[in-house]
Amino acid sequence: MAGRDYMGIPREEIPWYPTINADLCNSCGSCLDFCSNNVFAQGELHMEVANPYNCVVGCSACANECETGALSFPSKEELVKKLHELRDKYKTTV
Ligand code: SF4
Ligand code: SF4
Repeated sequence: MAGRDYMGIPREEIPWYPTINADLCNSCGSCLDFCSNNVFAQGELHMEVANPYNCVVGCSACANECETGALSFPSKEELVKKLHELRDKYKTTV
């Protein structure tokens, strides 16, 4: 969904969402069932991240549901660093 903000920062500027390792994903559907934010969609060959910016900033809960370890996220340290940069850019108080 376009146009949403996260504490005054356009959500699309924040690189926080799951990445799927296609070699590990067996299309079990656990992540799709678990997340209610319409982030995932079943692709032809494996699960896909269809709406990355629907992902809740800082959440990584679905990774615990993936038994093959196919889901990964940036580190929380990388997220904090990026939010500080964006805070300066958008003059917010994140
Ligand atoms: S839970 Fe993991 S293995 Fe299952 S569909 Fe999602 S990414 Fe693929
Ligand atoms: S991290 Fe949270 S919000 Fe993002 S896709 Fe996974 S369960 Fe959904």
